[in-house]
Amino acid sequence: MYNLKVVIIGAGIGGLTTGIAMRQAGYQVEIYDRAQELRPAGAGISLWSNGVKVLNHLGLGEKLAAIGGEMNAMEYRSHTDESLSYVDLRPLFEQVGQRPYPVARTDLQTMLFEAFGPEDVHLGMNCVGVEQDEHSATAIFENGERISGDLVVGADGIHSAVRACVVGQVERRYARYVNWNGLVKADPELCDPNLWVLYVGDSKRASMMPVGGDRFYFFFGAPMVEGTHVEPTYRQEELAKIFQGWPEPVQKLIQALDPEQTNRLEIGDIDPLEHLVKGRIALLGDSAHATTPTLGQGGCQAIEDAEVLTRYLHTTNIGVADALKRYEAARKDRTAELVLKARKRTSLIYGYVPEATEQWYSDLKQEPPESVINALAKVILAGPMG
Ligand code: FAD
Repeated sequence: MYNLKVVIIGAGIGGLTTGIAMRQAGYQVEIYDRAQELRPAGAGISLWSNGVKVLNHLGLGEKLAAIGGEMNAMEYRSHTDESLSYVDLRPLFEQVGQRPYPVARTDLQTMLFEAFGPEDVHLGMNCVGVEQDEHSATAIFENGERISGDLVVGADGIHSAVRACVVGQVERRYARYVNWNGLVKADPELCDPNLWVLYVGDSKRASMMPVGGDRFYFFFGAPMVEGTHVEPTYRQEELAKIFQGWPEPVQKLIQALDPEQTNRLEIGDIDPLEHLVKGRIALLGDSAHATTPTLGQGGCQAIEDAEVLTRYLHTTNIGVADALKRYEAARKDRTAELVLKARKRTSLIYGYVPEATEQWYSDLKQEPPESVINALAKVILAGPMG
């Protein structure tokens, strides 16, 4: 289809990537975000090869490589500092044809924002609903403004307002753990500069991976009841207590982090949805399939959505609603499967059944590197770019 006007709600990874793809397809695109200033939640993100391939296709490969870290291997270590598994990831890159890039979120957001162009991103616009008729869809904003287009894309995250207009109210499920994350200066005393290390034990984990700019993205995770709050000033005290007795690099990381710049998040997801579209409204990214981050695929799936949605609009001519139905058919099962797979992994990592978690620690020692690589390759190669 030609000459479409696309209204996108949300200027996160999903909304911006969709904006870039739709623009390249020749469409008129406007993005609206409720934030007054775009600031990503979270410090880093690992873009696996399926997400990277889409960004390559959009012409962003070189820029992404410049902000990405060079992660060549991953290692699981126990909280008593025993190596449980070591996987050289380079055979994976050979198999799938592209390396992944761990990046600082601010760098990624800036890259996408600049590639889309700031002039068509409208901030301070809180979408409260969407209406549609046979010919158009209209986003309604808290300030009373109404913006119409041929379609409205709800890329407005886990607490999506657009989602309510497609499938009704959906509650976020708390995943029973807290995640802390941030960036520190790369230091070989913390981690090998080309390694993704994960310390695990007692149903908790602590991890570091390289991102561009000579930094490590780090995260910690620990089971916790819902509703706890700790002021940023006390980040180090809290982590030092939870990870007391863990290996030296973990202790050094806690000392090295900037407490005011360390995020503390309660992690959740949503049940797979019955529908991702309704007429001229499409859900995309976390609004469609928010997941726990234990597979590192949430952002990658948002990027895949952008590619697939644009492809169906661009390569079919029955009508917008028809293209959206095709998008739903292509994305629903893949994303649902990953949400449920991540949920299962979350339960294993964070000790929902402590015996199963202990068993997983011993299984890690037995698991051949090839099976880790094959599992990762399977997810990557099932993406829209193969
Ligand atoms: P968001 O990034 O949430 O963006 C939504 C945007 O919509 C925001 O800018 C918001 O301001 C705006 N908005 C919200 N409501 C409204 C409204 N009513 N009106 C207007 N605007 C609105 N994924 C990976 O691929 N790899 C990883 O390694 C990885 N690690 C993760 C680690 C953690 C701790 C977490 C929490 C997630 C991780 N993810 C990862 C998942 C990834 O961050 C998300 O899947 C991704 O950010 C979703 O992008 P999005 O654009 O759909 O939503």
